[in-house]
Amino acid sequence: MKYKIVLLMLGMILLNACSTDDALTTDDNGVNQSANRQSTGKSAKDLLSADKYTSMILEIVYVEGFEPSQSSINNLKSFIEKRTFKPQGIVIEKRAIPSPNKTKYSINDISEIEKKHRKYYNTDNRIAVWAYFSDGKSDKDSAADETVVLGTAYWNTSFVIFQETLNNYSNSPLEPNRSLLETTVMTHEFGHIFGLTNLGSPMQTNHEDGAHAKHCNNKDCLMFWKSESGAGILDMANMSAAPSLDANCMADLRANGGK
Ligand SMILES: [Zn+2]
Ligand SMILES: [Zn+2]
Repeated sequence: MKYKIVLLMLGMILLNACSTDDALTTDDNGVNQSANRQSTGKSAKDLLSADKYTSMILEIVYVEGFEPSQSSINNLKSFIEKRTFKPQGIVIEKRAIPSPNKTKYSINDISEIEKKHRKYYNTDNRIAVWAYFSDGKSDKDSAADETVVLGTAYWNTSFVIFQETLNNYSNSPLEPNRSLLETTVMTHEFGHIFGLTNLGSPMQTNHEDGAHAKHCNNKDCLMFWKSESGAGILDMANMSAAPSLDANCMADLRANGGK
């Protein structure tokens, strides 16, 4: 059993990270990749509404051995379906890649992995999202692992889950159920690319946590930032379902073209 208190950092957002030098990047087939290298929250409306994109492809890529569970993927899909208008549907494609063989990854490393392996970019009416499940750990974890990063949304249609870390802190006594923790982190990161909170989906009432920017101030909301309150893995051990969005967060999504 692990008695150590682990502070969860659900989704560190790097605003404008790694975006400038990628302007006007096109691949060998002339696909414009720059539309998918914008700051987090910038595509909120395009993800939520059918105005520009009537369908979505979610590309799930994991390092061999670090595949997310099918039940978590199903939960994520239903979360997206409940909040978005995509009359032509949401397609999920999943595949494994070999380990890039590092023990620690910076967000810059993660974005390089995406550049190398991402297959899908926005097309005329289909928006593409990249979700990467990493081995190793985040370079933002503290030295003695008192604080660990489980996920990060870093571009407008990209997020990473540190799946090896997540596995290490789930499914043991005093730890949360793995699928619930996966569902929580995946939907939380998706909430960020949906523009929550105050990150591209304008707030209908002020509910941003003063102490934790771009997070909701309701402790029961999916978009609450739990890291500094001492709430963490041990508190999540008793959860029976992943947290959902509260009324304020849902109102922001509806006002920005979502359901
Ligand atoms: Zn977050
Ligand atoms: Zn909220």
